[in-house]
Amino acid sequence: EVVVVWFRQDLRLQDHKALHYAIKDAKQNNRSIIGVFHIHPALNETFTIRHDYFFSTLASFTEDAKEINLPIHFLHGDTEQAFRNLLSTIPSIQAVYFNLDEVGFGRQRDDHITVWLEEQEVNVHRFVDAHIHGAEEVKKPDGGFYQVFTPYYRRWSSFDKPSLYTIDKQKLQQYGQDNTDQFSRGKEQFQQLLNQCQKDWNHIGERSAVQRLSHFLRHKVKKYEQERDFPAKHATSMISPYLKNGVLSPRTVYQKAMEIQNEYGESKGLETFVSEIAWRDFYNMVHYLYPNFKKEEVQSKYQGLDWNEDEELFDTWKKGETGFPIVDAAMKQINEIGWMHNRLRMVVASFLTKDYLIDWRKGERYFADHLIDYDPSSNIGGWQWAASTGTDAVPYFRVFNPTRQSERFDPDGEFIKAYIPELTHVPKKYIHEPSKMTEAEQERYGCIIGKDYPKPTVNHKTMRKQAIAMFENNEPSL
Ligand code: FAD
Repeated sequence: EVVVVWFRQDLRLQDHKALHYAIKDAKQNNRSIIGVFHIHPALNETFTIRHDYFFSTLASFTEDAKEINLPIHFLHGDTEQAFRNLLSTIPSIQAVYFNLDEVGFGRQRDDHITVWLEEQEVNVHRFVDAHIHGAEEVKKPDGGFYQVFTPYYRRWSSFDKPSLYTIDKQKLQQYGQDNTDQFSRGKEQFQQLLNQCQKDWNHIGERSAVQRLSHFLRHKVKKYEQERDFPAKHATSMISPYLKNGVLSPRTVYQKAMEIQNEYGESKGLETFVSEIAWRDFYNMVHYLYPNFKKEEVQSKYQGLDWNEDEELFDTWKKGETGFPIVDAAMKQINEIGWMHNRLRMVVASFLTKDYLIDWRKGERYFADHLIDYDPSSNIGGWQWAASTGTDAVPYFRVFNPTRQSERFDPDGEFIKAYIPELTHVPKKYIHEPSKMTEAEQERYGCIIGKDYPKPTVNHKTMRKQAIAMFENNEPSL
């Protein structure tokens, strides 16, 4: 008899609920274990940097799993077809274990396949694993859902935190089973996807993830509170790509943070860091509550806003050619490395929606194609927050001023210069608004505005007024 562990965005061999319980089952019932990964046809439709990162991670995971006698079997075709093929190839399968997607397309797929597998008399064991507290867990005392982060977080903090689901690798050595030669078509498809990967990622996989987290907790978390908003300081953990692909579990992040707290004592930095992990849970809960989160403004009074359809303007944002250095440097960061600092995500999202009046959904899609840590719930949450349309959003009349943000969070222009070499010699006085340089200064500092670096595409003061009017005009009147 065989039990299956279906891996998806939980590519790790530590603290993994589904794997933990599958091993228990194998031990109790003397069954073998196989690991599967399903290549859904949608994965063949587009190939972005996110896919490059994901499949490179999957390749590294497959190697690690093989080492402990858990070969990964690649399934292909639509979900039902993939599992039908699996069951007919290995008829002795008794149970399928997996960590559930709580929201979006993944949730629909998981619910559908659960019913189908049970109809085939296969037991399904599914777990809420991707968050410290799942979408249904943190509720008001009256059973309602929270809409605002601060009270949610207060309650979140009051709950006991799960400990780690340890994996006995010795046991796996004993129970793992290799039938991979019978799944050659899936393997070929995986190889084709791998052939499309072009980037040479240096810090991929579980070992790197744990190292990065430990380094951050030991050396940086103390200053996190003061420094996290300054992109040039590299003061955040950069663990988001690992959390996104489940290379690192949020429980591990929490428990390791607590170990550091026990060793070095409490700190404001550590406390703030833990609250950021809770934001991830919060947006998962909001997405669960609003299944249309991706398509529709949570606040119905802001549905149908009169967004600007100017594609040329949108292009200048995408390429980082808006003439606002902090926005442009941030967009060059995402375009170059597939990641962007949190403060800058807020700045560019505010800029697109309030200075360009371009629909947040377009920005959300652009991030989806360019972030290696793309997480629908956090991304939509971030965009709806910036666009003032979400549950817990910045009010529409408080519009970020991109120049003031730049002066505050990149005072010396260090981050700007790292991504815009044309501004290298521009002095601090002008780095946030290079168009203020006289012609002579432009010559002196080797940056001609309109040639080496663009003029500002819009006037912030004017656009701020237009943004406020756009929201006010949409509010229902008596
Ligand atoms: P740290 O500051 O070290 O935080 C640790 C972890 O906490 C992060 O890895 C992340 O998992 C979580 N976290 C931190 N801030 C937030 C937040 N505001 N919301 C939810 N979780 C948070 N995060 C994503 O993981 N994927 C996205 O697609 C995404 N899109 C965003 C879009 C916009 C417009 C905005 C404003 C924010 C978005 N975020 C997203 C949240 C945040 O910007 C990133 O999680 C963070 O920058 C990742 O860097 P880090 O790991 O160094 O973060």
